[in-house]
Amino acid sequence: MKIKSVRARVFEWKGKTVPPQGNFCSNAMDLLYSKAETMSTFRFHSWTVVEIETDDGIIGLGNVALAPKIAKAIIDEYLAPLVIGQDPWDYEYLWQRMYRATHAWGRKGVTMGAISAVDLAIWDILGKSVNKPVFKLLGGRTKEKIPCYYSKLYRTDLKAMQEEAQTYKDQGFKAFKMRFGYGPGHGQQGVVENLKSVEAVREVIGYENDLMLECYMGWNLEYAKRILPKLVKYEPRWLEEPVIADDIDGYAELNQLTDIPISGGEHEFSLYGFKQLLDKKAVSVVQYDTNRVGGITAAHKINALCEAYSVPVIPHAGQMHNYHLTMSTLASPMSEYFPQFDVEVGNELFYYIFKGEPVAENGFVDLRDDVPGLGLTMNPDYLDQFTITE
Ligand SMILES: [Mg+2]
Repeated sequence: MKIKSVRARVFEWKGKTVPPQGNFCSNAMDLLYSKAETMSTFRFHSWTVVEIETDDGIIGLGNVALAPKIAKAIIDEYLAPLVIGQDPWDYEYLWQRMYRATHAWGRKGVTMGAISAVDLAIWDILGKSVNKPVFKLLGGRTKEKIPCYYSKLYRTDLKAMQEEAQTYKDQGFKAFKMRFGYGPGHGQQGVVENLKSVEAVREVIGYENDLMLECYMGWNLEYAKRILPKLVKYEPRWLEEPVIADDIDGYAELNQLTDIPISGGEHEFSLYGFKQLLDKKAVSVVQYDTNRVGGITAAHKINALCEAYSVPVIPHAGQMHNYHLTMSTLASPMSEYFPQFDVEVGNELFYYIFKGEPVAENGFVDLRDDVPGLGLTMNPDYLDQFTITE
């Protein structure tokens, strides 16, 4: 079996969107002053889809959501020529080829996202070629089904947040992630608002369920150190990305500061990036995304690394490429779950581009044993809602 062609397309949503409500979510741009800018960089409404075809007619699907037009250019210009004519079973060799050929200017960020998309399509081909789901190729089923946590609860008014939490508690979720709406620029009043929101959600979900707290890099170290001790009494399962991804020493300091585990890694890349986070004890929960970190070839190695460090892996986003990794390793106790909504932040687009993404039932998702590869197909229902760039 040989790779015959690589096709990368950008799907840009032009359909209906829901504007961000309330204070929504703190993020890295918050430390600057323009509110409009912070919202526009937080939302992403396009995605790169990669289709790799083999000479025996198998088509593998991969995807990446980081800087989609740049990812497409990197795939077209640099990565496709490295894999065309090659045997997809040589996936480690092909991964190293892509990684080393782009090393001078790649390594992390959008280049690693582009490599991830190609690698995902290759693994989809491997599964389809032997008629097995990808998780079977990675070690098989380590859990009956995957527990998942409800991930939304953006900072709107507290009553609306409480109603949202109640709705999904009623659907059987036992873990919930909420977003902070305020950061250093909002002063002490923002600290008070942040604490009020945690209290409001705790009031609804109780202490018998898990509560995760998300900062999306919208704080700085000084602010995080000020607020963290005040959050201890709410017993969060973790506090996510309190500071920007490059401040690894900041993560390490915060992770030792209180009993609250610090999580991160959705903006970290490759085996080396995670070795550094673990060596420094910077995170107590690893949250790579398979479509950023280097694909399944890299994520599988990071799972082994985390197993050895006894640090749980709970990948960013649900999405098929992550579920297969979570299913096949004991290092991963659960998944994140973005529910299907009208297009808002952009995570929801996955449901509009692909078919096959599992829907949570009673707080669990499951993967089918009888669907080969990653289990995704292109969704024909919304094609006219996208501008597609070939
Ligand atoms: Mg996150």
